[in-house]
Amino acid sequence: MVATRIDGKAFAATVRSKVAEHVARLKADHGITPGLAVVLVGEDPASEVYVRAKGRQTVEVGMNSYEHRLDADTSKADLYALIDKLNNDPAVHGILVQFPVPDHLSETDIVAQIAPQKDVDGLHILNAGLLASGGKAMVSCTPLGCLMLLRDQLGNMSGLNAVVVGRSNLVGKPMAALLLRESCTVTIAHSRTREIEALCRSADILVAAVGRPEMVKGDWIKPGATVIDVGINRIPAPEKGEGKMRLVGDVDFASASEVAGAITPVPGGVGPMTIACLLANTVTAACRVNGLDEPEGLTA
Ligand code: NDP
Repeated sequence: MVATRIDGKAFAATVRSKVAEHVARLKADHGITPGLAVVLVGEDPASEVYVRAKGRQTVEVGMNSYEHRLDADTSKADLYALIDKLNNDPAVHGILVQFPVPDHLSETDIVAQIAPQKDVDGLHILNAGLLASGGKAMVSCTPLGCLMLLRDQLGNMSGLNAVVVGRSNLVGKPMAALLLRESCTVTIAHSRTREIEALCRSADILVAAVGRPEMVKGDWIKPGATVIDVGINRIPAPEKGEGKMRLVGDVDFASASEVAGAITPVPGGVGPMTIACLLANTVTAACRVNGLDEPEGLTA
């Protein structure tokens, strides 16, 4: 069997155009332009790239982008004062503080400062609680993107066995909660899980969010399963030249795609969905705060 390659790049483009359509309607019918504020503390080069990409894509779909760049030694008090200002600014519908932050700041405490209805990263404890209890949460962008790809690929997932490898608050736990909402039978695996290969082989849906290059091999996969590879790992690529690197996922794509029914590649799978879902969450936040219908197909 050769697995269908799930094209996250193409799907992300359709998500962005749905967002753009909804933004245009919000402007025309209600005079509302959704706004996303991104806060970057310090000069981490990878974060710079992400923040630039987020700003560019926000503007491309017709939303307002507000970038706040703070020095690496910005105090907790100054950062919280900025978040408070953004919480109270009606032009800002989504707030994202780019992680990682310098060591003197706590990511958990920062997230707690963000108004839950503007927490477009879905990390606030209230949003985690709403997701777990079946309420209207802002859902973390990467798992939301995975869910969209799975819905598109599989339609109804009721009764399927889903295994999520990884239990982070950012990916693993919200992913498991979303699959449970779809009425899958969900198991979460992590670094202490015993006989993980056999467990993965029981999965109709296998989501890998681990951060270990090509850990999941083809013989861990049930024939015909749908495999979502969240991992982004940089490994040496001597074939490209000395000192060159390449990106791989947590799944060994070559062996896995001989067994799976469908699989996301890395790059070009889950990665492009994450920013697309950030835009989707911002337009959803703008609708919710104004008591308007949520954009169809862009929420969990
Ligand atoms: P974390 O490091 O927060 O979590 C990793 C999880 O993997 C932990 O729960 C850990 O278990 C588990 N784990 C580690 N080693 C093993 C092992 N040998 N067997 C089974 N489980 C193991 O990572 P994230 O959830 O933040 O990210 C996971 C991956 O996804 C990374 O590669 C990251 O770069 C990528 N990522 C990609 C995004 C995208 O846009 N595509 C967005 C976010 C993340 P334990 O809890 O027991 O330690």
